[in-house]
Amino acid sequence: MKFTDFNLKDTILAAVTEAGFTEPSPVQKDAIPLVLEGHDMIAQAQTGTGKTAAFGLPIMSMMKGDGSVEGLVIVPTRELAMQVSDELFRFGKLSGLKTATVYGGTAYGKQIERIKQASIVVATPGRLQDLLMSGKIKLNPHFVVLDEADEMLDMGFLDEIKNIFTFLPKERQTLMFSATMPKGIRKLAEQILNDPKTVSITKSESTNSKITQYYYVVQERERDDALVRLIDYKNPDKCIIFCRMKKEVDRLVAHLTAQGFKVSGLHGDMEQKQREVTIRAFKQGGIDIFVATDVAARGLDVNDVTHVFNYHIPFDSESYVHRIGRTGRGGKTGEAITLVSPNELRTIKRIEKDVGAKLITQVIPTRMEVQNNRNDELIAKIAQIQITDKAIELVKTLQHDLDIVTIAHLLASMVQSEISVKGKDHIGLGLEEVELLIERAMQNRGNSGGGRGRGNYRGNNNRRRSGGGDRNKHGRNGRSGRNGGQGSNRG
Ligand code: ADP
Ligand code: MG
Repeated sequence: MKFTDFNLKDTILAAVTEAGFTEPSPVQKDAIPLVLEGHDMIAQAQTGTGKTAAFGLPIMSMMKGDGSVEGLVIVPTRELAMQVSDELFRFGKLSGLKTATVYGGTAYGKQIERIKQASIVVATPGRLQDLLMSGKIKLNPHFVVLDEADEMLDMGFLDEIKNIFTFLPKERQTLMFSATMPKGIRKLAEQILNDPKTVSITKSESTNSKITQYYYVVQERERDDALVRLIDYKNPDKCIIFCRMKKEVDRLVAHLTAQGFKVSGLHGDMEQKQREVTIRAFKQGGIDIFVATDVAARGLDVNDVTHVFNYHIPFDSESYVHRIGRTGRGGKTGEAITLVSPNELRTIKRIEKDVGAKLITQVIPTRMEVQNNRNDELIAKIAQIQITDKAIELVKTLQHDLDIVTIAHLLASMVQSEISVKGKDHIGLGLEEVELLIERAMQNRGNSGGGRGRGNYRGNNNRRRSGGGDRNKHGRNGRSGRNGGQGSNRG
């Protein structure tokens, strides 16, 4: 299917071509025709699936461009407002459709001026409500879009949204987009949508295809070592590491900085300016690693994130989906890597089931494996390098005292010392051990399917007996868990 298969205006199609889009994404395929037919719509699709174009292209295609505000897009954060606005600007510029971005924390005057010239207003709920209630602006948009509706409710914007709708015309086409569909969203949909069509991009389509998902089982105290080893091994261009708590973000930033990574934390309570500067550095490559909490990473839309790490497993499946959706965007591939402790195996299994994706268990690579990887990279690099005159001179000088083989060995050692991998050799649990623990976790849960023993654990009976089940009786699990936790907090 191509964009030309939709009944879009020529100038909009030209803008799509200019943007470099060749094939519509699944949500675009489903949503664009429905929107063009004039239906209200509720669409569920994960982040990074191209929702902006899914609503932007059809509504812009139907706009008259008469100078009035014809479309209103409500988004949860200022950042998203800017991103969505930029994207819509790209689509609309050949059609002469201007966008205005409206968010809190800046002067009213300029924003109001822009709104007066715009066909589309992209706004955060707080400032929009201000402007409407104070009578500073009046809007009569035919198209109203709620983008990332679940995040807006999570952020506590329900009242604002309801209030905003009292200022909007009854005659309108309303579209709602959300990565998840909790009850609150469905209830809001009932209130603001009129006989809506539903679009749901199934999980396998939105999460699986481009993101490979791994998990590694480690003891609590091994999390830091495991993380560093995995970063060393995967060598990500850009990655985001998710933590549960702010203080863990700080601790990890310090730890990773000390290891020589270009890393920065992303905090919920960071000042907006500072946040933008940090995000820009991340986008441009001055920072390779972001450490963030779920809240801080809301609305963070950075392309080219190659890896998402869950330092701790998120509390629920929806956060998991949100988190890993930060990679694999715009048709690129990505990897999601989760560290779990033996106690968390049940949780990861539940998440796996909820998201309907396969999570692959792997063993943390040994120091040797990472080193070998690096050697391979080094050999490839050496093959590319040009010999310089200065190098020839240097070797000549060295040859006064040393033979050529010794010189080669010394130089190789020097280069290798720079890429040497730190840490202990083996980190985390082995595959057999993990499978055994999973089996036991499922059994304890009273899961009938898990009760069947599997054939491939022969000779493991001793280990099986010394595992978690017996420990529970002695109350050791809880203690070792807590100790481990403290240890890793101190790093
Ligand atoms: P979402 O709102 O679902 O999180 P976006 O609309 O922000 O996703 O799109 C994510 C990225 O994918 C953006 O950089 C966008 O330009 C790009 N994109 C969207 N649709 C397509 C497409 N059909 N082909 C290629 N890239 C696309
Ligand atoms: Mg979006």
